Amino acid sequence: MSALRESAILPTMFDTNNHNHTISRWNAEFTNAETERAYHQHVEADVAAFLALALKLWAFLLTIFAWPDWLALGNSPAFYTLLGLRMSHVALLLGLAFMLPHKPHWATRGWPVTWVAIAGYPLFFAYPYVLPDNGVFGLAIMMMMLLSVYVFVPNRLNLTNLIALTGFAMVVLNVIIAGGNAVEIILVAMVLAWPIAIGFAAAQRINIGNRKAFAALLAAEDANRALADEIAHRKTLEAELQHQALTDPLTGLSNRRQYEMLFSHELDRYRRHKTPLALGMIDLDHFKHINDEHGHEFGDQVLRTVGEALQAPLRNCDILGRFGGEEFILILPETSLDQAVIIAERMRQALRSTAIIKDGHTIQITATFAMTEVCEHDKNIGDIIRRADDALYQGKHAGRDRVMKTAAA
Ligand code: GH3
Ligand code: MG
Ligand code: MG
Repeated sequence: MSALRESAILPTMFDTNNHNHTISRWNAEFTNAETERAYHQHVEADVAAFLALALKLWAFLLTIFAWPDWLALGNSPAFYTLLGLRMSHVALLLGLAFMLPHKPHWATRGWPVTWVAIAGYPLFFAYPYVLPDNGVFGLAIMMMMLLSVYVFVPNRLNLTNLIALTGFAMVVLNVIIAGGNAVEIILVAMVLAWPIAIGFAAAQRINIGNRKAFAALLAAEDANRALADEIAHRKTLEAELQHQALTDPLTGLSNRRQYEMLFSHELDRYRRHKTPLALGMIDLDHFKHINDEHGHEFGDQVLRTVGEALQAPLRNCDILGRFGGEEFILILPETSLDQAVIIAERMRQALRSTAIIKDGHTIQITATFAMTEVCEHDKNIGDIIRRADDALYQGKHAGRDRVMKTAAA
């Protein structure tokens, strides 16, 4: 990894200050709506499961507190009024709890639990009228309720504030309606402000903490993505470099390093399995004239076209390389000399029928082919090339544009 590249990706890898990950202290949510939505999606299943549990526990507590009511009121209309309110709220709580597995997004959205919580207030509101001497007990329950709603019921902080402040307002209103004096009103307000302040601070801490963990996860995902991109980039570069190292830049055919490597692989196979292996040399005829008449650059273009034309009739396993200048080398695995001659003849015809047009004139390009096959006495590629080269020389003398064949000595 070069120093330059390293310094370029590191800020991305450890970017925990991404502005999309800023969390507001007021509502303990991401300021970026999309990040907040992504967070909701991420925690949805967990929050829905926990909220359902909290609602069921809430319903259970509400139900068992009917017992002290009964002890205080017996089988009176007042008891049944409170029980009716209690059970309506229990029904709402359980209804929401059983809906959550089907609508988990209700949990992260927060409004359903907010309305269900607020719908429970008439019960609190009714108490002082039914059990007037129960004020302190009711206040204590309200304090616990306010604290629980902040720390136990997962919700968006703003909505929990709405639940808490509605409860606060209702209780204070009750005291006013009941004719409480200013000191009583202030005392009740202070007593209720306590769990609200503590609950807010705790819920804010929980919500911000969870979002910070999510932001760290996003940062880690970004870093992984940057690394994956980097790896993909390097792989492409590596493949490109390997391609460059093994191919001839002008024609894109195998270069010496590549065809010698492939040939030695084929030679091993020949020695192990005795499958025939043919080799050919191809030299363009009178190529000097092309350069002299049309320029070296045009000559290069012709070499590219010739490379394509020669490659076209070949199988995937055949290897065509640029030997140097306007000479090419052909390696035909699992091919006998006679078959190689047929293939070379096909290539010769393909080259002949390749139209190269310059200034309105068609230039005919031909080549001389020399085919041979590998025999047991061949020690290396040089031995075989030499044999083919001799045949090539004879082909040139015999008039060019032909396929020569030379068997092993
Ligand atoms: P022959 O039929 O006897 O092969 O004639 P020739 O003119 O092709 O002779 P030879 O093979 O000896 O000459 C090779 C010529 O090919 C020399 C040079 O002008 C040209 N040549 C070699 N390499 C390149 C190349 O990379 N680009 C171009 N444009 N021409 C090249
Ligand atoms: Mg030559
Ligand atoms: Mg030539």
